Amino acid sequence: MNYNNFFKDAISGLKAEGRYRVFANLERIVGKFPKSLYHPENGEAPREITVWCSNDYLGMGQHPKVLEAMDKAVSGQGGGAGGTRNISGSNHLHVALEQELADLHGKEAALLMTSGYVANWTTLSTLGSKLPDCVIISDSQNHNSMIEGMRHSKAERRIWNHNDVEHLEAILKDLGPERAKIVAFESVYSMDGDIAPIGQILDLCEKYNAISYLDEVHAVGMYGPRGGGVAERDGVMHRVDIVQGTLAKAFGVIGGYIAAKPEIVDFVRSFGNGFIFTSSHPPSIAAGALASVRHLKESNAERVAQKERAETLRERMRAAGLPVMDAPSHIVPLMVGNAAMCKEASDRLLFEHDIYVQPINYPTVPRGTERLRFTPGPLHNDELMDHLIDSLLAVWSQLGISKAA
Ligand code: PMP
Repeated sequence: MNYNNFFKDAISGLKAEGRYRVFANLERIVGKFPKSLYHPENGEAPREITVWCSNDYLGMGQHPKVLEAMDKAVSGQGGGAGGTRNISGSNHLHVALEQELADLHGKEAALLMTSGYVANWTTLSTLGSKLPDCVIISDSQNHNSMIEGMRHSKAERRIWNHNDVEHLEAILKDLGPERAKIVAFESVYSMDGDIAPIGQILDLCEKYNAISYLDEVHAVGMYGPRGGGVAERDGVMHRVDIVQGTLAKAFGVIGGYIAAKPEIVDFVRSFGNGFIFTSSHPPSIAAGALASVRHLKESNAERVAQKERAETLRERMRAAGLPVMDAPSHIVPLMVGNAAMCKEASDRLLFEHDIYVQPINYPTVPRGTERLRFTPGPLHNDELMDHLIDSLLAVWSQLGISKAA
């Protein structure tokens, strides 16, 4: 086997398809969000650009309360936590954060993990492998972190058509009442920006005695009067068995978690290898996340401003004849429909217009639906939006991309 050729050919294949990932090298600047310094690959001097695709949806990563809490924890407690949760790495800030998260979701317990990815992977792989004769029923557009967790569990997996409750019911009926069943789905799907009919899905979970597992990664902090997610907004939060979330998007820091009944949380805490065998977050991370969750429980201003910005951007794209996808959420996807073209549009926006929006290509989205995904935040003002629309129109006309949605 020629290993070098194998690796090189694989990368050449990605490049030929326009799917090779290039990470923009950014330097965030406190007080300037959504602007950032961009360090060009060719070694030219860094320059200021506007980021239009950040998952720090509300700018909480630079909120003074978050920074102050993190600074205080660093100067008071130092760098790392000192171990896994089991071996000296459990900190009072982790415990306080778990209590805060449990309360956010109206649950009795929560469990902090390294990231949202790890929380999904660990929880589904643990439940799927330990529950006897378990079957996991998974929405066809679930995130990779859930898919990998389910696969690793080796539990039987049934896929239900995206957000199709009739199809879900047919599968549940077919499986019968005796088998252990987990219905895994998301609230806001991050690439199309559509939202699951959570109440109807929960009706079915209750009717067929299935555990409901809801990924609210793109919704926590963003929806509901206290930022508890779409389930809170829809008044059904108390009926979800396991809520999974992240601290890295609207909360602006890093980390993932589940919130559920104490017996479920204790089970994952006790059997989940992705929780047990890894070091815990530095106290400063827990402090920052705690400040962010507490702030967004009290304050609606960021959510209201974000919603207005997303609606305005969608409206302005539509008015300019740009093929913006309809979505009932904070995510604004603009269809391109071709991987190479999508990359080219993103490059031109960055190199010629100082606008950064990452191309979204296969396998993140199906081939032929490549797109630019905008996540306007409260700080994307009218001036930045004017510049974005003008730049998009210029690039669309240069590249001859179809304007029909
Ligand atoms: N679930 C969904 C739906 C996601 O989109 C992501 C990441 N983008 C994750 C889980 C993983 O979350 P994290 O970034 O905190 O690892």
